[in-house]
Amino acid sequence: MARYLSTPLIILGIFTLAGCAPPPIEVGQADPRSTSSLVQDTDTQATEIYFETARQNMIDFAIKAYGIEDQAVLEVMGRVPRHEFVQQEHKSMAYANHALPIGYGQTISQPFIVALMTQELDLSPGEKVLEIGTGSGYQAAILAELGVDVFTVEIISELAQEASERLRRLDYTEIQLRNDDGYYGWSDQAPFDAIIVTAAPDHVPQTLVEQLAKGGVMVIPVGPIGGIQELWRINKDEDGAISTSSLGGVRFVPFTRTGKPTDYNRTE
Ligand code: SAH
Repeated sequence: MARYLSTPLIILGIFTLAGCAPPPIEVGQADPRSTSSLVQDTDTQATEIYFETARQNMIDFAIKAYGIEDQAVLEVMGRVPRHEFVQQEHKSMAYANHALPIGYGQTISQPFIVALMTQELDLSPGEKVLEIGTGSGYQAAILAELGVDVFTVEIISELAQEASERLRRLDYTEIQLRNDDGYYGWSDQAPFDAIIVTAAPDHVPQTLVEQLAKGGVMVIPVGPIGGIQELWRINKDEDGAISTSSLGGVRFVPFTRTGKPTDYNRTE
């Protein structure tokens, strides 16, 4: 460092000795901002570029590479700032293909799983979507960016509060969020064109099936707490008949009925 600093000092010294010192630098006049705010601006820009690059890598190597092809999903996931939905100490990992802790024993899901579940909902703008398990609000923001009307329910009041503030700060003001047990859905807004459940119950809540519109689709992980669950797509046809198909094995935090934080330190 000293090597780099010494050169301008020597040059300044020579000018001064020769009686032709450069004009005094009027600090604060050339740029009204202080040096520290300029440094901060540069840092902020660098950080934004870092996050943008990391987000694009996430799309290419964690989502597209694993077979997600829905252009709208790829586009919104390339836009929504996932780093705003994780805790400060995890921001540098925000675009890695991992679930990350969000407090209260819960996690923000792995980006690939968010992409897969969103793609399977096969949404069109203007549709009505119910999410059970708001968590950080990231999945809700992805849905809102797709132009659907989002209703999301979170059972842990602290998380519901934090997500509500975060979504407002990020300008997702249209999302409707409720602190409640999502087992009963959101009856006065039903039916929904799509329902996405982001915590794993050990059975499919019947109320949610009832709140699914004809022609609608639900994506839900079902299985034992602490084990591998199966991710199901449940379709209700125009006659109200139900069909299911498996999307594979997953690991989600448990679907709880009490809102009490769980001890499970899970990966999705
Ligand atoms: N979709 C979230 C990740 C959710 S983690 C995101 O994008 O960040 C699962 C969430 O489901 C947790 O916040 C958990 O508290 C919540 N949850 C569990 N059981 C629930 C229930 N019965 N009703 C509503 N939310 C529930």
